[in-house]
Amino acid sequence: MRVIKKEAVISVHHWNDSLFSIRTTRNPSFRFENGQFTLVGIERDGRKVMRAYSMVSANYEDHLEFFSIKVPDGPLTSQLATIQPGDALWVSQKTTGTLVNGHLLPGKRLYMFATGTGLAPFLSLIKDPSIYDAYESVILAHCVRKVSDLAYQREISHVLTSNPYFGESVKEKLIYFPTVTREPFRNQGRLTDLLKTDQLTNTLGLPPLAPTADRVMLCGNPEMIKEMSEQLSERGFAEAKSGHLGHYVIERAFVER
Ligand SMILES: Cc1cc2nc3c(=O)[nH]c(=O)nc-3n(C[C@H](O)[C@H](O)[C@H](O)COP(=O)(O)OP(=O)(O)OC[C@H]3O[C@@H](n4cnc5c(N)ncnc54)[C@H](O)[C@@H]3O)c2cc1C
Repeated sequence: MRVIKKEAVISVHHWNDSLFSIRTTRNPSFRFENGQFTLVGIERDGRKVMRAYSMVSANYEDHLEFFSIKVPDGPLTSQLATIQPGDALWVSQKTTGTLVNGHLLPGKRLYMFATGTGLAPFLSLIKDPSIYDAYESVILAHCVRKVSDLAYQREISHVLTSNPYFGESVKEKLIYFPTVTREPFRNQGRLTDLLKTDQLTNTLGLPPLAPTADRVMLCGNPEMIKEMSEQLSERGFAEAKSGHLGHYVIERAFVER
């Protein structure tokens, strides 16, 4: 049976006209692994409209946070975009997802490649101290169209580094690589091109991606997932699936309807 519980919105932050984040209360019985997703929704005309959302918050935090797109005619987000503190948000208690470290073979470096709201599960994972114990380096590459789509920059670059428990590990191991495709920015280009040309690893002073040392998590638009998966398999990476550990894992950030 699907159990859905009501949470109360604590705060809403609009990053720009197409992206926003919602923070809610968290029922103490809600359990998840960092990197997983659940179903989130609102009630409309007596019916619940629920969609898949990754948790941005870490599993030890006492609130829940979600990072959302605004699809102008989207059944959920056209309404969700107007949500206010105190309003109700329905959260399914069933959590799942492939973007968990336990699905990967041990490795030296962990690459997290995200487009758009595909950043969400990685925001939870980079707050997980066990990620820094497992890898020498953790590289978070986030590709967006416009500079204003680069949500959570300050949290990634400044807030996490001052965390009293694992801030030092973040300083030492987390490499954040934001890149923009349609406006001038210090890093430009699509992840698929940056990987194909080894430009990303060259810029970071790291060796080209190889299954002997590198592990990869992909979350983003279906085209990026497809192209990156092809490139990774050409490099000898095996996808973790059907209970078998692998060199990389994927999660679509949305499905085309
Ligand atoms: C495993 C999984 C995890 C997800 N996690 C998130 C998340 O953390 N944050 C989030 O905003 N969405 C996430 N989504 C997408 C989400 O479930 C909804 O599609 C989204 O909230 C829009 O809902 P809607 O009812 O307004 O429009 P829908 O009818 O669901 O979507 C309409 C169209 O909008 C486009 N679209 C939908 N979602 C996105 C998106 N995130 N980015 C770009 N284009 C999109 C697609 O073209 C889609 O066909 C996830 C989807 C999956 C499958």
